[in-house]
Amino acid sequence: MAGYFKITTFGCQMNKSDSERLSSILTRSGLVCTDDDERADVLIYNTCAVRQKAEDRVYGIHRTLQTLKENNPNLIVAITGCMAGRDHDGKIRQRLSAVDLFFPTEEMIHLPRALSGLNPSLIDPSGVGDEYDHYLKIAPSYLNTFQAYLAISNGCNKFCTYCVVPYARGRQKDRPLVDVLAEARNLASSGVFEITLLGQCVNLYNPPDKEHFSKDNSFDNSKNGFAALMWEINQIAGIERIHFTAPHPQYMDEQTVAALTMPKNINYLHLPVQAGSNVVLKRMNRHYTREYYIDKIQEIRASKPGIAIGTDIIVGFCGETEGDFEQTMDLYRECDFDIAYTAQYSVRSGTAGARMYKDDVPRQEKKRRWNVLQKLMEETALRKNQAYVGRTVSVLVESCEKDLCSGNSREMKRVLFRGDESLVGTIQNVTIDRAVEWILYGSRIKN
Ligand code: SF4
Repeated sequence: MAGYFKITTFGCQMNKSDSERLSSILTRSGLVCTDDDERADVLIYNTCAVRQKAEDRVYGIHRTLQTLKENNPNLIVAITGCMAGRDHDGKIRQRLSAVDLFFPTEEMIHLPRALSGLNPSLIDPSGVGDEYDHYLKIAPSYLNTFQAYLAISNGCNKFCTYCVVPYARGRQKDRPLVDVLAEARNLASSGVFEITLLGQCVNLYNPPDKEHFSKDNSFDNSKNGFAALMWEINQIAGIERIHFTAPHPQYMDEQTVAALTMPKNINYLHLPVQAGSNVVLKRMNRHYTREYYIDKIQEIRASKPGIAIGTDIIVGFCGETEGDFEQTMDLYRECDFDIAYTAQYSVRSGTAGARMYKDDVPRQEKKRRWNVLQKLMEETALRKNQAYVGRTVSVLVESCEKDLCSGNSREMKRVLFRGDESLVGTIQNVTIDRAVEWILYGSRIKN
């Protein structure tokens, strides 16, 4: 009888994509996916370490894991993702005694062998080989039939001082262009029409096999492999919408800005700024100034009028004064963002930030700044969304419940409208009747 596995994913889109690969390698080994903790023979937690809160969630379920193991002594519990990747001194593992396997993401290629070692009745040891030399070669078990993540690289070289990713995932490794294009073409031929290109520093993509770029590619791949890749993906019949995340402002050069205007690229850009003060940006090791960032946003808007822009901001980084925070607020107003993902800084052990700076902004003050920024964000979002009333947007319908369809416009605005299940997985034109901070309500234009 086949064994069962359950994967729980925390964190970013890259983790979600990695979980699709985990699922694939386990299914290929003969295991079956389940949602049920009690039924599972293997529980895998794909973890996030970007903030302390994310790690605390894993520590918070540890007692439940112990109980599950008491009830089922054969249960295997595994932790992967950024918590496992960054645990170079073994301190995180020490706190998780119920965990049997602890492996960085890239090592999922050895997972069948490790499971077979722990329980040979689960996976036949004679059938376990080293099929893959890199985990991104595993074909994912995609969760969705019309939208898919497509990882083009893994890891990061930037070493922003607050960030654990370079320690957890290692230096940036770019997938070969042939592999990326083969996956994109396979997705298109299986009916996927929305692709999200993933990488921690996605616009620094520089594949090892540039000779495979088309001769008539409009972009100079020796200068910008990412813009050239977007051109290639724009040529694939069947792909209708292309997203990417997360770009670094430093690499938003002229070619990347020009590439944004290609027809299949959505009308939204997520460009993390993190702070609006040059002193804080320098301490964060971000390699740009507020002036550069603001100019870049203006250049992007001039090149692609009407584009919606989102960002990430950390408040309360080490040494951030009230004046520094005011500069973040000013930058927010100046850039007139559509949305921001905001966080209060928390020290991440092992990072340069933890070694070099003091976490000296009191917790209450971080919270206050976060609330002030949140208020500005909500006011801005409401004003910007109200400008959509009366306009028609193109919506990819992702779900439908009780006759209410939901999906994103090309500007990544959440749109709700009356419809039925048959519209899920289609693109519909919707005229917006009403707008609130995070939702546009509209009516479908019937063909
Ligand atoms: S660019 Fe900076 S924030 Fe982004 S993954 Fe790399 S180190 Fe982390």
